[in-house]
Amino acid sequence: MTVSKKLPLLYTHPIGSLPRPLVVRDLLRQRDERPNDLSVHAALDDFVRFAIRLQETAGMDVVSDGEWRRTQYIQEFLMRVGGFEACRVIEHQGEVKMSSVVVRRMPTKAPVFADDAQFLVANTERFTKFALPSPFLIAVRYWHEDYSREAYPTAQHFMDHLTEILAVEARVLAEIGIDVIQLDDPALTYYCDPNLMAGKSIHDQRLLRLWDANREVPAAVEAINRIADGLQAEVHVHSCHSVYKRQADVVGDYKPLLPRLDNLRVDRVNLEFAYPQTGDVSDLDLLPNQLQVGLGIVDVRTEQLQSVEQIAGIARAGIQRLGVHRIALNPDCGFAPDAGEPPTIDEAYQKLCRLTEAARQLRAEHSAKSSTPLWSPIFHRLLKTFHRRNKSDEIEFQSSFERPLGSPCFTPTIRLRSPTN
Ligand SMILES: [Zn+2]
Repeated sequence: MTVSKKLPLLYTHPIGSLPRPLVVRDLLRQRDERPNDLSVHAALDDFVRFAIRLQETAGMDVVSDGEWRRTQYIQEFLMRVGGFEACRVIEHQGEVKMSSVVVRRMPTKAPVFADDAQFLVANTERFTKFALPSPFLIAVRYWHEDYSREAYPTAQHFMDHLTEILAVEARVLAEIGIDVIQLDDPALTYYCDPNLMAGKSIHDQRLLRLWDANREVPAAVEAINRIADGLQAEVHVHSCHSVYKRQADVVGDYKPLLPRLDNLRVDRVNLEFAYPQTGDVSDLDLLPNQLQVGLGIVDVRTEQLQSVEQIAGIARAGIQRLGVHRIALNPDCGFAPDAGEPPTIDEAYQKLCRLTEAARQLRAEHSAKSSTPLWSPIFHRLLKTFHRRNKSDEIEFQSSFERPLGSPCFTPTIRLRSPTN
């Protein structure tokens, strides 16, 4: 785990997915039906370039591939790794579905996302992000005692093997040059929902089980730590409220969860604050000291666009709590956690544009605050000293201002040099 020093203050980053237009979903289906058809892969390449350019045009500091090579953020991983079958009938948001469960031991094979990551890195000059599902999330949703015991006797055995596989995957992503690796773990947010914890009705039947935060959260954190250990990338954990068709699976602020992340060894947790019944900025008082936060300030659930002022207002409230240096800015969640979510690509673009405009205003505010009261008087004192000493020929000052690429702040650099004869 390494915090990238290159990322700018209050940098903007996507959570991962962009809405997949019908044509992209068609191409993904064709890819699955005809995996050797190069024309389908070439067409997908073009659409992924479009997803990257869209984020660049919106002004994002960090870009993803929109997850346009994935049918869905977890399903794609399960399909590529193997060992799963869609044979468990569940109810989700009033729909009866066939859910995948692990039925065979996952075969160990080459990393499954290396080609996708290489394409992303090769097709943008911006910082890059790639998301992986966390071991705990996959174990909660895809291990079931009626189907999975032959493959893995317990969910913990399954999670241990997932951790091994995902650690290799993450290391390869970092070697390819991905700047930000994110582990998606909305399952951690389940502990924030009082109704779910009390065993009351919930939108997703897979979540009707006994929960034990004291045992399960440390196990989830340990699995993430094992993946993050030694990674040469900025590592994020994303914990949202599981959006499906503009509705969340769970509700609740992060107060029950954040104190349990004391041992989490990643750089940043990406949380939701833009939508009611998710995070409250007062939750940030409980953020463990070793963690920074990706502040979710753009609502991805409703169709309505927030004003730039509303978006910036949530960020300002977060900055007041944590200071400007522990905060990055992002939408609440990805725009398409499932295959065909309602948001359009234009809605996503407009929301990202407003996010980056809010970031620009916030950086300007910070720059004005920090440069006027802090640097101005110092600079004038240095100029006076320069004048006084240079006249006596005792010492020569060279001064310059360097502006690191992407940084909103001027960093003065003063070099001292003895006079030469
Ligand atoms: Zn999410």
